[in-house]
Amino acid sequence: MKPLIAGNWKMNGLQSAKQEIERLIEKFSGAAPDDRDVLICPPATLIAGFAANYSDEAIQIGAQDCHPETSGAHTGDVSAEMLADAGAAFIIVGHSERRADHGETSDIVRAKAQAALRAGLTPIICVGETREEREAGEALNIVGDQLDGSLPETGAEIVVAYEPVWAIGTGLTPTLEDIGDMHDFIRSKTPEGTRLLYGGSVKPGNAGEILAITNVNGALVGGASLNADDFYPIIKAAPGAM
Ligand code: PEP
Repeated sequence: MKPLIAGNWKMNGLQSAKQEIERLIEKFSGAAPDDRDVLICPPATLIAGFAANYSDEAIQIGAQDCHPETSGAHTGDVSAEMLADAGAAFIIVGHSERRADHGETSDIVRAKAQAALRAGLTPIICVGETREEREAGEALNIVGDQLDGSLPETGAEIVVAYEPVWAIGTGLTPTLEDIGDMHDFIRSKTPEGTRLLYGGSVKPGNAGEILAITNVNGALVGGASLNADDFYPIIKAAPGAM
């Protein structure tokens, strides 16, 4: 399976942030290697410009969220079709920050994943337990419920990202064994060929050992994707022939 290294810029980045993509492309000496997929999900304001300028360099551009419907009276929202029109190839759905900040249930996440598929885009569906849930020994149950509720029934490509909530932006990560156990579990509950990403404090120093775990097929990277000096070594750490 071709690894996918995806950067989630969250609510960070003005037009000037294109310099960071250009620095990344310079590090690739012109084009990203074709034995791994590289994706950047900037804020919605940057998608069209980045897609127009950088998709040729083998960096794909994605979105961080979408509305489930195609169009209509939803002030401030953006549909999957609009994101496809802007040049996005993927949409992150169900990130824990959206589940927490916007009250997104698994039903809503599934509707958003279906919307991405309807628009011809690949959803990256996020799941993950809180610290309390892990300490209570409930991590597998919680993630299992989220998968049951959030995954659309489809034969089309989907990506699942396991992101323990307590590991996001904290510098903490589960043990390699815990990541492996969770990914084996997610593998057993997802369609064959689904790429499974790990996300939560992936950095240049731990990317190699995390990306070498069985059933880890890439990473979803927050903070470290904002800077080409950090993101490049993470991309390079994915198994492949770079
Ligand atoms: C994320 O928000 O998807 C994420 C994994 O963030 P970080 O890498 O900063 O922990």
